[in-house]
Amino acid sequence: MFKRVLALIALACSLVELAYAQTENLKFVIRVDDILSRNTTILPRSIIPLQDSITSRGGKITWGVIPHRLIEPANVDGVLATELKASLSNGHEISLHGFVHICDKCKNAQGASPWGHEMYCTWFDLPFTYNEQNLLIEEGLKILSEEIGITPTSFIPPGHISDETTYEVLGDKNLLVFSDNTEAKYLNSNVFNLPINDEYTWALTDEAYEQNLTDALADIKSTAKETGVYGLMLHDPFIREGYQDAIVLRWMGELLDSLNTYYGDNIEYLTLTNAANAIKGEPVSIDEDPELPADFTLSQNFPNPFNPATQINFALEKPSRIKLLVYDIQGRMISALVNAQYTAGNHSITFNAGNLSSGVYIYTLTANGGTQTKFMTLVK
Ligand SMILES: [Zn+2]
Ligand SMILES: [Zn+2]
Repeated sequence: MFKRVLALIALACSLVELAYAQTENLKFVIRVDDILSRNTTILPRSIIPLQDSITSRGGKITWGVIPHRLIEPANVDGVLATELKASLSNGHEISLHGFVHICDKCKNAQGASPWGHEMYCTWFDLPFTYNEQNLLIEEGLKILSEEIGITPTSFIPPGHISDETTYEVLGDKNLLVFSDNTEAKYLNSNVFNLPINDEYTWALTDEAYEQNLTDALADIKSTAKETGVYGLMLHDPFIREGYQDAIVLRWMGELLDSLNTYYGDNIEYLTLTNAANAIKGEPVSIDEDPELPADFTLSQNFPNPFNPATQINFALEKPSRIKLLVYDIQGRMISALVNAQYTAGNHSITFNAGNLSSGVYIYTLTANGGTQTKFMTLVK
């Protein structure tokens, strides 16, 4: 018991310490997912203000473009396509972000929620075949080629959901850079995964502003100390309140000013493809617990990121009393999911985060005097 408490205190303390430690280098990737609104009434819908705010501080942006939206009514005036084209010449990147963000397998099913995913049906837990995924990716590439005149080099999975088949198609299509927060460093010999770390601007308001900025800075510095690279995500910029009243622009500006001051010449702003090329050969390690006890295994939760529920699987080699606890990134315990005797074998626990806000959470499994730790990301 005492040992367990010590291990948990050590975990909480190391997170706090990491947050304030000076770091050598940071490769910083800013990506903006879900570019192009399908909402015809919300204005402004220009990428220029956000881009200018980031560019003026040295930043590079990877625009995660949903191809189909380029040909939807809200965007047929071509204004955003023209802006995106221009941004390429300033060193920014356009990434293929799925095709349409509506799942073909559940879009006609009553009560289903087909939005967001399309390479794997999370509603019915059904995979798409190679041919089905290949078609989505081909159609997406065709639209980007016709409307913007580019062939992207990176892929961002819609809804952050993909599977082995997705990686195969990507390899065959020469989309060799992939961005997700799966644990895989190299998904196969070709496709390189550059993980995202977090999203802070999804629902940014005045009240959440300061805490959110403090949390982001701490998170970026601690992650950079561990891995040297951080991927920050922004989402659906044109339909969020924070973009319309410019809070996100102010927040991004303050964040980058602070990082520039802290890292000086040691911060390097890169697009997804730049970053993947720069760190190939020095894979990003997100292995938080190298000393794994032999008698149990804690798996990465699935799906991840998740909203609002996810499965946490673990395997016990012998009957054990276990504790499965969930913490926030500040080390505060959020939930004691399990505290009970379990039989040997595989077990699956559902974690429901319905009342929590978006962010990174930590889960730890303690059994037989050993603890294993993993991270999971709630994206609402
Ligand atoms: Zn998306
Ligand atoms: Zn579906």
